[in-house]
Amino acid sequence: MRSSARYPSAVAGLDETCQVALLKTFLEDQELMELAQSCAPELVAIGTPLGLPRGLKCLETVCQCCNARGPRKTGREAELELARLGISCFFTSKGSIIKNLVYRGIELKAKLQQQGQIVVETFPHATKVMLFGDNVPPKNSTRSLAYWREQLPLLVKGLDKCLEQLDKNSCDALLNAYTGLLHCQRRTEVLGNAAEGQVVVPRQEH
Ligand SMILES: [Zn+2]
Repeated sequence: MRSSARYPSAVAGLDETCQVALLKTFLEDQELMELAQSCAPELVAIGTPLGLPRGLKCLETVCQCCNARGPRKTGREAELELARLGISCFFTSKGSIIKNLVYRGIELKAKLQQQGQIVVETFPHATKVMLFGDNVPPKNSTRSLAYWREQLPLLVKGLDKCLEQLDKNSCDALLNAYTGLLHCQRRTEVLGNAAEGQVVVPRQEH
């Protein structure tokens, strides 16, 4: 998802056989909500932080809403757990460079829940590392898109006809949807705590 409705956000849907059922973009939250209403998915997986560290009510540096006592809290427990697993991520904290994206995610989660959807937070980079190891090309590298166009059809059925139209955002949307499907199949781990928002990652199957 993008931080603003000025840029298209990617959304992907998978059916229970892991066949791609939906691959498109949206601008306004309302479009996604209508899509969710008409598709009635079992689960919506959003690959964006969907909660704030305990004690914070916003991410503004000028606001004093973090605890005056004790050290300033940086990052959510889920993010600390990701870091311990060797998976790099943005720590949700005051002045975060992705704060507008976090606000949008939190609001969208609330709106989807109000209309009855079950929403989980995923993190595409964590999904990539858990499924493919540490050697996945970084998202902004030139190799990245070619790599995922090659790998995703091994996970998701029915992509052969739309490989050329896949960009890095739709690849991430597919990875989020895939993680959501794994969650429905109880093949995930849930990091962090409910108060701050948990992150669902694929369980490593040995
Ligand atoms: Zn505040």
